[in-house]
Amino acid sequence: MSQSRAGDLYVVATPIGNLADMTQRAVDVLRDADIVAAEDTRVTARLLSAYDINGKPVVACHDHNEDVVARDIVDRLAQGASVALVSDAGTPLISDPGYRVVNAVIEAGLRVIPIPGPSAAMAALSVAGMTTDRFMFCGFLPTKKVARRSYLSELPFSTMTVVIYEAPHRVMDTLIDLCGVVGDNARVTLCRELTKQYEQIWRGDARKAVEAVDSGIVPVRGEFVLLISAPNVTDSLSADDRRLLEVLLAELPPSRAARVASELTGLDKRVFYELAMDMKVKSY
Ligand code: SAM
Repeated sequence: MSQSRAGDLYVVATPIGNLADMTQRAVDVLRDADIVAAEDTRVTARLLSAYDINGKPVVACHDHNEDVVARDIVDRLAQGASVALVSDAGTPLISDPGYRVVNAVIEAGLRVIPIPGPSAAMAALSVAGMTTDRFMFCGFLPTKKVARRSYLSELPFSTMTVVIYEAPHRVMDTLIDLCGVVGDNARVTLCRELTKQYEQIWRGDARKAVEAVDSGIVPVRGEFVLLISAPNVTDSLSADDRRLLEVLLAELPPSRAARVASELTGLDKRVFYELAMDMKVKSY
């Protein structure tokens, strides 16, 4: 007797504002799926209708019913149905529901297939002009002031870019906390309404970010991603200081070059050393 094959769970990314960002593969998977599991069925109904996908069974799958729905999805997959999981916008599970469904399906030994596409964090990182070789995604911060400050104080701003999702009415408080925790000159990029009509990408330091929000240059409306890193200490070196170090590095190992540069200029040798290591990495 032949056994019918179990269905697959597709985790489908959808646009974060601009409908044209839907991938062809996402449309195909949603069209072919037997069931769509959606964070908000009304939001997903609009998306499906925009792509002429009609009559598709859509079940709600949100934070409050995910355990129950996860079991139901596993049963349906086992019976051979294919299921597409979507959230309201962007990639499911990224500060969105879906974690318990995906885990239940993995535990049942069934297949989970990613259909990659938009995510606000990745879109923001791709345009911020901040270091992307290492970054930390933190999602939403704690909303209470004391908890938020303590959380912020443990983040690795000096070694990587930190990516935060923030509700518009909390942006100002978070920026003020950042000034206190990381310093006024922390590097900040504010990405607002990405891919939408009023998209805005503001770059500067934490103090200027507070001023930009306070003065309305960056309105506290719409959706925000904040990217933060500590100021680069080597930014304080002039072009002449850099050239001097470059010349010394051609003849000396980094620690000696940094020491001589520091003796000649009176500037901190640790800053020269950091730049020397940076130059060395980039010369490979
Ligand atoms: N799953 C989504 C993703 O992949 O980006 C994130 C969902 S989370 C509930 C919503 C948060 O993502 C917003 O509060 C905002 O911080 C960020 N976000 C979503 N869309 C955005 C956009 N178009 N521009 C800026 N931030 C956005």
